[in-house]
Amino acid sequence: MTGVVHLVGAGPGDPGLLTVRAVELIGAADVVLYDRLIPPEALAHARPDAEVVYVGKQGEGPQFPQDDTHRLLLEHARAGRRVVRLKGGDPFVFGRGGEEALVLEQAGVPFEVVPGVTAGIAAPAYAGIPVTHRDVASGVAFVTGHEDPSKPGSAIDWPALARFPGTLVFYMGVRTLPRIAEQLVAGGRAPDEPVAVVERGTLPGQRTLLATLADVAERAEREQIRAPAITLVGRVARLREQLAWLESRPLHGRTVAVTRARAQASALAARLRALGAAVVEAPAIRIEPLDAPLPPVRVYDLVCVTSPNGAELLLDRLRDARELAGITVAAIGPGTARALRAGGVEPDVVPERAVAEGLVEALADVPVERALIARAAEGRDVLPDALRARGAEVDVAALYETVAEPLSDGTREAAAAADYLLFTSASSVRHFARAGGALEGPRLVSIGPATSEELRTHGAEPDIEADPHTPDGLIDALLRDARG
Ligand code: SAH
Repeated sequence: MTGVVHLVGAGPGDPGLLTVRAVELIGAADVVLYDRLIPPEALAHARPDAEVVYVGKQGEGPQFPQDDTHRLLLEHARAGRRVVRLKGGDPFVFGRGGEEALVLEQAGVPFEVVPGVTAGIAAPAYAGIPVTHRDVASGVAFVTGHEDPSKPGSAIDWPALARFPGTLVFYMGVRTLPRIAEQLVAGGRAPDEPVAVVERGTLPGQRTLLATLADVAERAEREQIRAPAITLVGRVARLREQLAWLESRPLHGRTVAVTRARAQASALAARLRALGAAVVEAPAIRIEPLDAPLPPVRVYDLVCVTSPNGAELLLDRLRDARELAGITVAAIGPGTARALRAGGVEPDVVPERAVAEGLVEALADVPVERALIARAAEGRDVLPDALRARGAEVDVAALYETVAEPLSDGTREAAAAADYLLFTSASSVRHFARAGGALEGPRLVSIGPATSEELRTHGAEPDIEADPHTPDGLIDALLRDARG
């Protein structure tokens, strides 16, 4: 039985630009053979038992011979495996995907091609440059800039290219940039024609140089533009002066490390990315549900929920949301309230200040005889103590605990190099410090007083404390600080 090879484009780097089909195939593959410039997030979709093999080539770095790639493709396919050959951008645009498809065709191995978002369109788009524009460019040519244009026998007809009536997009041409510019001017292009060089397009740290054919080589050298980069020649480049949407986002160019448990970090990370930040996920904690015995909820007249996790796990435990009918339900803050609503429960009490003290105040006029507090094992005792002081009988249901999650060296270094380090709970501070995370370097952003206090016990003073003490408040505080 022969397997199958999928030649799959992984897009230019932003994991959001992977196609749905690519994600589906990576997740089903027995073997993934990938190049350099493949977003790590793409590989993360592979099954844990899949064989994931690097077969990339790099300018000066390790080279994986193309013949060996061909051999591996055939070997795995003939052994009946589902192979994903993952390539940067689009597999059929300067990716040698055509060669690999021919090898498969000749060997009678079934294959499928999944196009990807090519860097030549995506990098300009992220730099605010449409590759075509009515009246400005009615055509676009994709060209390899790999070849030295001055060497005899170049496969590129430079005079013809110079005459091409439209935008020219060069892949791979950083070192050859001076000669490319020279040849185009020699072929009749105006020396003041705009040129944009987009380095690391769609990736964190994307940089764009807007120059002209006359000065692009010198300026790229001065600004130390490095591969991977796309060079675009044409009047459309100037549209970037109006359309540079990415750079105008408020957190563009900032790196923010999020220490929250992975399950919750993603929503926060997505919002930060949408604001233009590069996000480092450094979760030093993980949520571990506990089998706490839970009496039937109907014995309580008040149920307090002090975190979104607590809300989800409490709702999991109930057979039916109607079991909470007639009981006062209090949520510590808007995130917890949202988690309750997602399970069909509208909280009766949500304090202005999303801290235990705020909840105590908000409950001052609520009659309580017997209360249940659904929370983490290691929470603070402010709320149960205050309710007991009022004469209520209080049960604390420890529905989960936060346990340490080791940080890799790479993650620790990335977090230390970030501009901001975000803490959304005291336990994340504790675990982050215990996992060897550095509390100096980045600006420290704390969600509220309990988290700030924990930072101080580790000898670190928070630079920013959110108010209100919610993820929204945290993001607002960060934006205010970034604006300076
Ligand atoms: N098949 C790929 C191109 C492979 S050739 C595609 O369709 O995009 C490799 C060249 O692509 C690099 O030298 C660089 O010129 C360009 N490239 C790839 N990713 C890039 C990125 N994120 N930003 C800028 N250029 C990129």
